[in-house]
Amino acid sequence: MGRVYNFSAGPAVLPESVLKEAAEEMLDYRGTGMSVMEMSHRSKAFETIIEEAEADLRDLMGIPENYKVLFLQGGASLQFAMVPMNFMKNRVADYIITGQWAKKAYQEAQIYGDAKAIASSADKTFSYIPDCSDLPIDDNADYVYICENNTIYGTKFKTLPNTKGKPLVADISSCFLSEPVDVTKYAMLYGGVQKNVGPAGTVIAIIREDMITEDTLPGTPTMMKYKIHADAKSLYNTPPAYGIYICGKVFKWLKNMGGLEVMKQRNEEKAALLYNFLDQSNLFKGTVRKEDRSLMNVPFITGNEELDAKFVKESKAAGLENLKGHRTVGGMRASIYNAMPKEGVETLVAFMKDFEAKNA
Ligand SMILES: *Cc1c(COP(=O)(O)O)cnc(C)c1O
Repeated sequence: MGRVYNFSAGPAVLPESVLKEAAEEMLDYRGTGMSVMEMSHRSKAFETIIEEAEADLRDLMGIPENYKVLFLQGGASLQFAMVPMNFMKNRVADYIITGQWAKKAYQEAQIYGDAKAIASSADKTFSYIPDCSDLPIDDNADYVYICENNTIYGTKFKTLPNTKGKPLVADISSCFLSEPVDVTKYAMLYGGVQKNVGPAGTVIAIIREDMITEDTLPGTPTMMKYKIHADAKSLYNTPPAYGIYICGKVFKWLKNMGGLEVMKQRNEEKAALLYNFLDQSNLFKGTVRKEDRSLMNVPFITGNEELDAKFVKESKAAGLENLKGHRTVGGMRASIYNAMPKEGVETLVAFMKDFEAKNA
């Protein structure tokens, strides 16, 4: 049994070397006589795992000392509530709606206060990023919220919004560690790791210390307070231990590869293979405005639903898995995260060329 090229948007492909290492350590993690799944999260072995994971992540992203790194649970979706519960002191926040995940976060925030949609690309099915250079930021806004890479629609903010001094909160689930970031531009970045970093069930939040206070909205559950997790170094309760362990291995893999500058270059090369093909194809076309294209998620269509379905079926038979577009947008989508090898994208493009020759 070989491995397929897995273009899933998430949970998604992980580096093969990481999976092999984890398999080798499954029964006996480094002489402990047990797997990481079976050990106390207060043990020395696990303490080393979580501390190294945090140190490597800090190193990779250049996270300044005045930012906390939290390993949390509940998926990225729980952050849609935790963000307002912890940050909405004035009960006002500004949301930029660039797709379904941003919209869900916005709708969740409305439960807690006056969440305003200050920009949106819904008018063209989220195929672009709106101009965010001079938005009507509310004077009382506690933060401005974006989803930086829109997994479903394949757009990415290339320039961060002008928040006019308000704290910026970003969901980076599907562009996590895909390229270097300037952490200092954000008050908080967070992501579910199952897109580009590790197994579902772990969320990593990087939060500037001054944002983490005891002053949360009344009724905020203990488990949803950032301060509780920050004070306990992500060990307030049993953390998603195995997920953190795999993330740690992926961080080491990224460091071995040369870090985020190198990953960016590789990701640009991979994405260019696919976008260049789409731009000259007579059958396939990309759905996103060129300047807003994501390096990670590439949606495309033939313009004919039957042909799309045929493509998905035949590509699967050829070992190219999970190319069906999100159920809300149709067509196809190739997610080409860090762990997707260049050969995977080359194989996809060759398959598309062949499909075009047969079906154009
Ligand atoms: C997948 C995804 C989510 C939702 O993640 P869950 O862990 O399933 O809650 C949120 N935001 C973005 C950008 C995503 O890609």
